[in-house]
Amino acid sequence: MPLETIKPNLADPVLDDGDHERFSHIILEGFTPKKGDFIPVGTSVVESIVTGAPVTALCGKVWVPNRNPERYPLCPTCKDEAKKRGWDVPS
Ligand SMILES: [Zn+2]
Repeated sequence: MPLETIKPNLADPVLDDGDHERFSHIILEGFTPKKGDFIPVGTSVVESIVTGAPVTALCGKVWVPNRNPERYPLCPTCKDEAKKRGWDVPS
C-alpha cells in the first residue's frame, strides 16, 4: 500500500480580509458622544492594534484591527448610524 502524500493546497491562497478592513468604522468603545459631537474614526482601532483587543463598530462589526484604517473611506452603515443619532461624522 503506497503512502499517500496529502499536499496542502497553497497554490492560490485567498487573502480576504473581509470588507470590514476596507472601511474606517466608527468605534465607540470607552466613550459616549453627545448630540452634535464630532466622532473621530480610528482612535480605538489604533489602540486595539497595540493591545490586540477586538473592537465593536457602530454598525455592529466586531473585529481585531491590524492596520491603520485612516486611508479607507468611512463605513456607510457607521455613518448612517451616527447621523441618526445627530453626531457629526467625518466625511
Ligand atoms: Zn461600520
